[in-house]
Amino acid sequence: MSEQWIYLNGQYVKKEEAVVSVYDHGFLYGDGVFEGIRMYDGNVFRLKEHVDRLYDSAKSIMLNIPQSKEELSDVIVETLRRNELRDAYIRVVVSRGVGNLGLDPFTCSKPQIIVIAEQLALFPKSLYDTGIEIVTVASRRNRADVLSPKVKSLNYLNNILVKIEANLAGVSEALMLNDQGYVAEGSADNIFIVKGNVIKTPPGYVGALEGITRNAIIDMAQLLGFEMREEVFTRHDVYTADEVFLTGTAAEVIAVVKVDGREIGDGKPGSYTKQLLESFRKTVTEEGRKVYTHGN
Ligand code: PMP
Repeated sequence: MSEQWIYLNGQYVKKEEAVVSVYDHGFLYGDGVFEGIRMYDGNVFRLKEHVDRLYDSAKSIMLNIPQSKEELSDVIVETLRRNELRDAYIRVVVSRGVGNLGLDPFTCSKPQIIVIAEQLALFPKSLYDTGIEIVTVASRRNRADVLSPKVKSLNYLNNILVKIEANLAGVSEALMLNDQGYVAEGSADNIFIVKGNVIKTPPGYVGALEGITRNAIIDMAQLLGFEMREEVFTRHDVYTADEVFLTGTAAEVIAVVKVDGREIGDGKPGSYTKQLLESFRKTVTEEGRKVYTHGN
């Protein structure tokens, strides 16, 4: 296997040499932000949107990324190129940097910037054919006035605890409610429901990450002429929906066929879900920032 190159603070280093200090506040306190991005057949899907979200997350926690958005975007593309990838998962991490053992972020001299690009480990195809089962977990989504779910921070404990609850229940993904009991999102995915000819996803203020895939699916649903609403809903609406699906960079668009033991629709991926997945897969290979031009 050829060498894997990782971007670390201005240099491209071998995977084995890509190490950071134990005094990094990202490690000590989860103090930092990140992004998960995907490249399809040489195109980075919605790179600008991901980079914008990263800078918004960083701004929210007063983490000043020294590079411009353009410079960081070029680094992402260069990391993909050096690793000769065409279909990849990209992880961008910006941590507060090396400081002392105290909490104060202003003791950290400069942020550490890391870009990792790997060959994609695809979700098994069978999951798209059968759909998945999820359960509602007891843990609620972080309140937006405590740690906003819109900040994609390195502190993912809320999501990790939820993932543990789901795994203990024998399923891979969870349904998280917000502090008022309204449906928020999954541990790493946004949620959509379909009833009749109306597609709904919770609005931003319910408290969920504003997913790049979510926003792409909203655009696509509208382009396909479907009725798309951002609306608050409850578990009852999920149980009685004709279709339920999750969206995310890793999951793309995946049907949910059972929630808390209730079969959704006829227990199979529905037609809206299938059409949106098909349209999504078509778009991702055509749209986006091209890493390779024809012939290289
Ligand atoms: N919610 C959470 C909590 C996530 O971690 C993710 C994955 N980034 C998503 C939703 C989906 O967002 P995206 O479509 O941007 O991957």
